[in-house]
Amino acid sequence: MYQIINAKILTPTEELTGAVVIENGRIQSITSSPLPDVETVDANGEFLVPGFIDLQVNGAFGHDFTQNPETIWEVAAGLPRYGVTSFLPTVITSPLETTNEAQRVMGIRPSPFQGAEPLGLHLEGPFLNPGKKGAHNPAYICLPSLEWVAGWSPENHARLVTLAPELPGGTAVIEALVSRGVVVSAGHSLATFAEAEAGFDAGIRYGTHLFNAQSPIHHREPGLPGALLTDERVTIGLIPDGIHVHPALVKLIWQVAGNRLTLVTDAMAALGMPPGEYELGDFRVTVDETTCRLPDGTLAGSILSLDTAVRNLIAFTGCTLPQALTTVTTIPASLLGLDGRKGQITPGYDADLVLLTPDFQVATTVVGGEIVYDVRCDV
Ligand code: ZN
Repeated sequence: MYQIINAKILTPTEELTGAVVIENGRIQSITSSPLPDVETVDANGEFLVPGFIDLQVNGAFGHDFTQNPETIWEVAAGLPRYGVTSFLPTVITSPLETTNEAQRVMGIRPSPFQGAEPLGLHLEGPFLNPGKKGAHNPAYICLPSLEWVAGWSPENHARLVTLAPELPGGTAVIEALVSRGVVVSAGHSLATFAEAEAGFDAGIRYGTHLFNAQSPIHHREPGLPGALLTDERVTIGLIPDGIHVHPALVKLIWQVAGNRLTLVTDAMAALGMPPGEYELGDFRVTVDETTCRLPDGTLAGSILSLDTAVRNLIAFTGCTLPQALTTVTTIPASLLGLDGRKGQITPGYDADLVLLTPDFQVATTVVGGEIVYDVRCDV
């Protein structure tokens, strides 16, 4: 048992002062004054916030999960430097064997392991609209197939599936996955507004990187973005690097649907690495200081970190830190059905915590009660 004292605690729906007591990997209690005779970590007045959850990570530190699913755990070990305590490793459109391999790797947790917890895979593809393929290999894009997804369930580490709902056979696959507890997301899609709504009726509850790889909003055909922004049933994924979506649109999205918004990084292998050439799935991607692009200029993932995403949201919208935090804590946790366990600083919840400096930089990250990152020890 230990306690973190002298922190501004953002639960994030409330601001509290006092001590957070941690025992057996969980938050045991929040007390108004520190307990005597208990091991103590002094937060020196920093913000103590819930650990961040990233629903879309393709890789980092030179590793790409689609090229090499074996690297999931190695990347997981490095993500706490960005405040990430849990995430969905994302495998993009690829042969079924690649997905199978990623599922197998997810089931082999290294021991000992210290890092962000992979909560299950985000399988982005292969049932995408070829007209919005982005950086996905068209050779592997195919029509929705019940047979293909037969082994996809949360028990088999398939947590979230992105597909284009307008494709023939889409509804049956959506319904099958939802009945197993998989979250289904609309993305890489040319769905009309009506087709998007039909997908939501079938059980879609998420939208993958709003505005990217979707038709733009037209005032007589609002398309998938219009449906995602106006339908209260769905949660929205957004890449707030200021490049994938203009900062002014980020502000508009925040004003319209901030209570249903999740920030994702869509980070690829170059996150945490210098500019250069990196892989995303089957393609070589050129990475400079801010962007990742295919030779034809198509954006191919990002080098955004999730703590930068939070700071960007505040800068683009003028929202408060507690408001911004909901988009990487309570809202993604709720989408994955993890309310009660993750996303809040509440007794009984997992002790996934981050200490942020007054300028919102990550100082310390705690996963399951263990301090897995501290900027003062980082070389
Ligand atoms: Zn994508």
